[in-house]
Amino acid sequence: MIPFQSLVQTYETPLYVYDFDAMKEQFETLKEAFRGRKSILAYAVKANSNLSVIKHFASLGAGADCVSIGEVRRALMAGIPAYKVIFSGVGKRDDEIREAISSDILYINVESEAELGRVEMIAKELNTKARISIRVNPNIDPQTHPYISTGLHDNKFGVEIDAAKRMYIRSKNSDSLDAVGIHFHIGSQLTQLEPIYEAAVIVADLMRSLSAIDIDLKFFDIGGGLGVRYDDEITITPYDYAQAILGAIKGLDVTIICEPGRFLTANAGYFLTKVLYEKKNGQKRFVVVDGAMNDLIRPSLYNAYHRIEALDKSGEASLADVVGPVCESGDFLAKEYPLPMLEHNDVLVVHSAGAYGFGMGSNYNTRGRSAEVAYQDGTARLIRARESFDDLIALEREYL
Ligand SMILES: *Cc1c(COP(=O)(O)O)cnc(C)c1O
Repeated sequence: MIPFQSLVQTYETPLYVYDFDAMKEQFETLKEAFRGRKSILAYAVKANSNLSVIKHFASLGAGADCVSIGEVRRALMAGIPAYKVIFSGVGKRDDEIREAISSDILYINVESEAELGRVEMIAKELNTKARISIRVNPNIDPQTHPYISTGLHDNKFGVEIDAAKRMYIRSKNSDSLDAVGIHFHIGSQLTQLEPIYEAAVIVADLMRSLSAIDIDLKFFDIGGGLGVRYDDEITITPYDYAQAILGAIKGLDVTIICEPGRFLTANAGYFLTKVLYEKKNGQKRFVVVDGAMNDLIRPSLYNAYHRIEALDKSGEASLADVVGPVCESGDFLAKEYPLPMLEHNDVLVVHSAGAYGFGMGSNYNTRGRSAEVAYQDGTARLIRARESFDDLIALEREYL
């Protein structure tokens, strides 16, 4: 049990707490599912990009999937070896491509023909060969929230099969490109196995047809997206997931790259917030807390559900909206949520906040971002200090 009450005493609220032992367990469970095959679990850094979190996964042997050069720098700084770092994303600036190539990372996931042209040009300037992989958009509906669906032609991500083929042929004929992998990532918080399997089959078939024209790829990159339980979702087990992938790639001699983010961190994270007061507008009950949408935006952005626990409180529950101090009606952590009567300074623990929590935070309303604490082997340590007012204004000019 994590001693939330004493962590609140020490570090105050709002506060993120990460259970590093739980992260390790998730990592090892997934790694184990791919046992017997060459595989790299490349942690999707955007899910939780705190350097200590990345370092924790580095110590377990993880690679990193990054979507900006800033994330690439974080991964390398945290001790992920360059040969396990991948740079993905639909829009990369020239300077980002240049730095990624110079850093000698595993490969760049290319998402358009135009991007391939930029990568080729920059590699040529650098007098080197850029290792690349191409993100295929298999046009599969992943059956998740539209904001986190990425594998349909309606989404901005990846290229169609025919374009991918052209790009591989172009790479083969280029002195500056070295195509080493193939990639797909159809969405996040996936709870249905079928779409993942279908996408894997389509991409594996493309890999076989490339092989027939002498284009042999080493890495089969299945992206991330494995869903977790926030409420009562029935999720895909790592074993079934791995078996489906292995079924799709039968006969191919490849290293599997898997890019889990949410799966590794979501349920290992807690967001702690204190009750400021209760109020009623007519019959409507509100619990006003010191955490807000700038700390945890998932409820506001996706109407996401997070389980909320009123720490050390009992009594009959009635429905309340849990809202923060930010001046937006969309600023809520929960709607119509059953909670006992609460008082000033009671602590609410918002569960499943370890992925897309702190990282999606902002300074809206001139609110400093929360502190972050790691809990491991029964001890807690601060891994990011609370932002102060001075931190918030540090880059502003001409105000005097
Ligand atoms: C976001 C992302 C991931 C991780 O997604 P999760 O749902 O957190 O597992 C993996 N790969 C790519 C390319 C991504 O954009």
